[in-house]
Amino acid sequence: MMPNVEVRNENFIGGGWRPSGSAQMSSVVDPSTAREIFAAPLSDAQDVDLAVTAAAEAFVSWSRTTPLERATAMFKLADLIEARADDLIAIESLNAGKPVSATGDEISATADCFRFFAGAARTMETQAAGEYMEGFTSMLRREPVGVIASITPWNYPLMMAAWKLGPALAAGCTVVLKPSDLTPMSSLLLAELTQDVFPPGVFNLVCGDGATTGVALTTHPLVDMISVTGSVGTGKAIARAAADSLKRVHLELGGKAPVLVFDDADLAKVAEAIKVGSFWNAGQDCTAAARVIVADGIHDDAVDAIAQAARSLVVGPTGDESTELGPVISAAQRDRVGGFVERACAEGAVAVTGGATRSGDGFYYEPSVLVGVDQRSEIVQREVFGPVVTVQRASSVDQAIKMANDSDYGLAASVFTNDVGTAMQASAQLRFGTVWVNDHIPLVPEMPHGGFKQSGYGKDMSQYAVEHYTELKHVMVKW
Ligand code: NAD
Repeated sequence: MMPNVEVRNENFIGGGWRPSGSAQMSSVVDPSTAREIFAAPLSDAQDVDLAVTAAAEAFVSWSRTTPLERATAMFKLADLIEARADDLIAIESLNAGKPVSATGDEISATADCFRFFAGAARTMETQAAGEYMEGFTSMLRREPVGVIASITPWNYPLMMAAWKLGPALAAGCTVVLKPSDLTPMSSLLLAELTQDVFPPGVFNLVCGDGATTGVALTTHPLVDMISVTGSVGTGKAIARAAADSLKRVHLELGGKAPVLVFDDADLAKVAEAIKVGSFWNAGQDCTAAARVIVADGIHDDAVDAIAQAARSLVVGPTGDESTELGPVISAAQRDRVGGFVERACAEGAVAVTGGATRSGDGFYYEPSVLVGVDQRSEIVQREVFGPVVTVQRASSVDQAIKMANDSDYGLAASVFTNDVGTAMQASAQLRFGTVWVNDHIPLVPEMPHGGFKQSGYGKDMSQYAVEHYTELKHVMVKW
C-alpha cells in the first residue's frame, strides 16, 4: 500500500525544487508487488549543470563556515530525520523492497551518521606546527576539496547518502547527490528536510540514471571529486572518466565476503550470524556473508546449521512486521541471481535449500545455500548480490585464508574461532578492509568502512572519511 507521504518528483537545486528540463521520466517500482509507484526525472546535462553551478557558488561561503556552524546544521538534520522517521521508513521500505521491521535501523543509523560527522567536523587533525627549517614555521591546513558529486546505489539509498554527505559537509564541501534511478524517493524526502538546514546550494539533488545523468555529473568541469558507492564496473567507468580532468575519486564498490569457520567455532552462533549476514536486505549488501569456508571436520554440521537458518527466514511482503526476507530490487536482479545459481548447479553445485525464484507477485528469490562449488567458479568469484550463500571446505587455517584471499574483492571478511592465535593470524593475513571475529556485518560510524583491491579505495565513515574530503595544505612562514 502506498504510504500517505508526499514525495516531490523534481530536482532539488540551489535550495529549491526545479522541474527537470528533460521531458523524460523514469518509472519507480515497488519490488514487492512489481507495481509502478512513482516517476522521477531523468535529468539531462543542463539540469546537472544548474546543480553543479549552485554547489560551486555555495562552496565559497560554506567552505568558510566554522566547524561549529556545520555541526549545528547536521545535528538539526539528524533531529529532522528522526522526527520524520515513520515517513522515511515507509518510503524506503516501499521503494527499496525492505521489510519494515528492518528499515527502522537504517533510518536511526542515518540520523546517527549525521550526528557522528557533526562531531567529527570539529576534530580535524594534522601534524604539529613547528620549525622544521630554522627561521620558518610550518603548519598544515585541511582545506575542503570543493564540489562533490555523490553517487549512491539502490541497496541502502538513504544510509549511503548519509555516508557520503556527512563527511563531505563536515569538511566544508558542497554536494550534488545523484541517487539510483531505481530508488530516488527517500533521498528526495531527505532533500526536503535539508531545505531549512543548509544555505541554498550546499546540498543539491539530481534524479536520473548512470548513462545520462551520472556521466554528465562525473564529467562536469566544476566537480572536484566524485564519491561513488556502486558496482566494480561502475567504479572503473567513473575512475576512467575522472582521469581526463584528474578529479579526486572515492570508490566504495562491490564485495564477496568470506566467512572462515574453524573447527572450534560455535555452530549455533555461526548459523545465527549467517542468517543475518547473508540474508539481511535479501543479500543485497556489499559486505554480505557470501562464501562460507568451513574446517573439514565440522563441514557437514555447519551446512545443516546454515541451511536450517536459511529455511527459518520468514519471506513475505515488505509491509508485514513479521517479514525477515523481502524481494530483491528488480526483475532483472532476480533473473541475474537465478542465472548465477542455474549456472553453478549446471557445473555440479547442489542447492541444499532454495535455488529457485518464488512464484507470485514481486521479485522474490528463495534464501539459498549451495554446496559442491569450485573455488575458481563464477558463483565463488563474482558478486551475486542476492540471498545466496555458498559453503566450501578447507583442511587447514592456512588453506582457509588462502581461499578467502583468492578474490578480486577485498571489502569484508569474518572469522569464527575461540582460539586467539587463529583469530589474530586471520585478521592479520586476510586482505579485506574489515575483519570481524565471531560475528559478521555490524558497523559503527566511528570506524572506517572501505575496500582493498577491486572493492575500491577511500573510506566511508570515521574521521578518515572526513580527511578524504580535504586537501592538505602546507603553509610555511619565514620569520
Ligand atoms: P551500480 O554500479 O549499478 O550503480 C551505482 C550508482 O552509480 C547509481 O546511482 C548509478 O546510476 C550510477 N552510475 C552507474 N553508471 C555510472 C556512470 N558511468 N557514471 C556515473 N554514475 C553511474 O550499483 P547498484 O546496482 O546501484 O548497487 C549495487 C552495487 O553497489 C553492488 O556491487 C554493491 O556491492 C555496491 N555497494 C557497495 C557498498 C560499499 O560500501 N562498498 C555499499 C553498498 C553497495
